[in-house]
Amino acid sequence: EASPDTESAPPAKKRLTRDAVAVVDHYNSRPDVGVLQRQDSPIIGLKNFNNWIKSVLIQRYAYPALIGESIAKGARTRRDRKLFGRVLDIGCGKGGDINKWTKAKIADYVGVDIAAVSVNQARQRWEGMRVNRFNARFAPLDCYEYPLSHALDERYLRAPPIDVVSMQFCMHYAFDSEKRARRMLENVSEYLRPGGAFIGTIPNAESLLDRLDELPDDAQDLEFGNDVYKIKFDERQHEGLYGHKYSFFLQDAVDDVPEYLVHWTPFVKLAEEYGLRLVYRSEFHSVYQEFQEEKEFADLLVRMKVINAEGESAMDEDQWEAANIYIAFAFEKIS
Ligand code: SAM
Repeated sequence: EASPDTESAPPAKKRLTRDAVAVVDHYNSRPDVGVLQRQDSPIIGLKNFNNWIKSVLIQRYAYPALIGESIAKGARTRRDRKLFGRVLDIGCGKGGDINKWTKAKIADYVGVDIAAVSVNQARQRWEGMRVNRFNARFAPLDCYEYPLSHALDERYLRAPPIDVVSMQFCMHYAFDSEKRARRMLENVSEYLRPGGAFIGTIPNAESLLDRLDELPDDAQDLEFGNDVYKIKFDERQHEGLYGHKYSFFLQDAVDDVPEYLVHWTPFVKLAEEYGLRLVYRSEFHSVYQEFQEEKEFADLLVRMKVINAEGESAMDEDQWEAANIYIAFAFEKIS
């Protein structure tokens, strides 16, 4: 049984970039409201939808890797009771996916995040688990600046090998520089076994740039959005692939945090250098179209309160538009 990790101190703020400090302060200061109070969120439909998307990704692309099958073949349902496989959750936050990994019956979980307060909340959530309790370790780390071995013992990271790396709604923070994006990919790839899966969700740079292009030439602010979300750029065009920054606001979730565009095709090429081959990429609306009619995912839509029993959506138009800022992806580790 792994004990909670206490060997590493929280990353010192003075060693973080100004934007990284803004990210840490933001996520550390957001309260962990718990499941019941979450239901009162004005964007609960959108939050539930995002969780449904992550569940689809886990069932469709992480399950096969967890049980040693090919991702392309896609065994989806786990009926046995055994706990299998090891997951590395980079940018784990407050542990919002711990229940999903419980349902996936994993044996082992490693959670890392730059926000030390969130990491402690994730650990507490794990400690409160009753059934299918997997082994777990948690550590605070700027995963886009330092190797994972700065926070966790190298031997512990290597054995058993990681079957799935998950990066949910967090990878884009690495794209302020090529150096940080490369460090992030190195951390993803280093302990992931060949045949393992790398799954994640990020904003769709192409669609954000399309929206930016649609703004009139004389627009005062390079801003768009609706009541639920707002995105504001400093520059229309940016030289180079990294560091094209925008500020993101999402109602009841994210307040003006600095984020960076992830240019998709160059990213896929870069990932190849780290032995990662693209298997799946889809906008959230398309993930919905693709999986909503499969019985298990249709049932899950109702269970996760994305739609009600009458088939009505819990999201209004603004939330549905905000949902499609994001894309979901899956890579397979080749070598
Ligand atoms: N993955 C969680 C989820 O889906 O609920 C949390 C997502 S939250 C929107 C983004 C997370 O990325 C935050 O917890 C933040 O602290 C983390 N993050 C941002 N920059 C990071 C970095 N350099 N290293 C590790 N985590 C980082």
